[in-house]
Amino acid sequence: MRAVVYRGPFDVEVTEVPDATIEQPTDAVVRITTTNICGSDLHMYEGRTSVEEGTVFGHENMGVVEAVGGAVTRIKVGDRVSVPFNISCGTCRNCSQGWTSFCTSLNPTEGVDGAAYGYANMGPYPGGQAELLRVPFADVNLLELPPGSEHENDFTMLSDIFPTGWHGTVLARQQAGDDVVVFGAGPVGLMAAHSAMIRGAARVFVVDQHADRLALGGKIGATAIDLSAGDPVEQILDATDGRGTDCGVEAVGYQAHDAAGEEHPELVLDNLVKIVRTTGGIGVVGVYMPEDPGAATKDAQEGRIGFDYGTFFTKGQHMGTGQAPVKRYNRQLRDLIVAGRATPSFIVSHELALDEAVDGYKHFDDRDKGWTKVLLRPGA
Ligand SMILES: [Zn+2]
Ligand SMILES: [Zn+2]
Repeated sequence: MRAVVYRGPFDVEVTEVPDATIEQPTDAVVRITTTNICGSDLHMYEGRTSVEEGTVFGHENMGVVEAVGGAVTRIKVGDRVSVPFNISCGTCRNCSQGWTSFCTSLNPTEGVDGAAYGYANMGPYPGGQAELLRVPFADVNLLELPPGSEHENDFTMLSDIFPTGWHGTVLARQQAGDDVVVFGAGPVGLMAAHSAMIRGAARVFVVDQHADRLALGGKIGATAIDLSAGDPVEQILDATDGRGTDCGVEAVGYQAHDAAGEEHPELVLDNLVKIVRTTGGIGVVGVYMPEDPGAATKDAQEGRIGFDYGTFFTKGQHMGTGQAPVKRYNRQLRDLIVAGRATPSFIVSHELALDEAVDGYKHFDDRDKGWTKVLLRPGA
């Protein structure tokens, strides 16, 4: 089968690899209809993770079940399914409590709970930017979708970024009527803004410096805060009569940079501590890494990031972090899409054949104007 394979920094290749097959009786093999390039794939693409050369990328996957192992009873061949990026066993301590993003059973990496497809530190599971994907524990992991091809571009957001954006608002303990700030109007930030609106936010401020992304935020009713027009802290304090917002979502991650383009991994956390009101919540779903070979300082290379913890403590704020347990949300978010209450496809800018992935990575990584979310169609 053809697949997107990592060759080294800024180098991916679409090439032949062995077909995904049933390896355990609890597996399914899914024929991928849509697989997305994710902002978090770019950390690997840029050589800013410990991912191994030869890894097949792709953790945002959906498709049609091609084969199932002998122990799979719920999922059937021919089912149209969304594949959560978390691979979970369903029965360990964390999975049992709904924390499928921290499954203790499936990642052999020392000190890391939680597994995913095609991702650094997340276990030996090839990704789905390919024609076929092996899904362990298929009955646990796969979410059925209505048959056919309707809502394909909405449903493809169920594997990661829509639940991840939603999770950011849950970690921030957003309530109806809250003012919410979202840092980063990339795909996850826009999903967090969309989620905050659906969850009844009074106002949502979206902070970024890319006009095309801010415009998308405007389309869903968010207020654009343009970093390049001045300090976002001042802009938002002005807009809230100095109170700040009730909560905030971090959707940027450790490669945060200032308007001049210089990286400051603590920058967004510091701004959130300033903007969120006393006792308010901060949900961090932007990615931070325990090792960053490309960081500017030795501390940052070891994942140590100094943010304004003193003010954070003094303001009595709380913070929730980490990867989203997709299964906790994806069924409900699917039904919001079917009911017409959620349309996460509003961020899609490009739909490419799998063989065009090399180009897709380059444009998306360069933040080329208009490249907000790239979908790959292996069957095209
Ligand atoms: Zn993703
Ligand atoms: Zn588990």
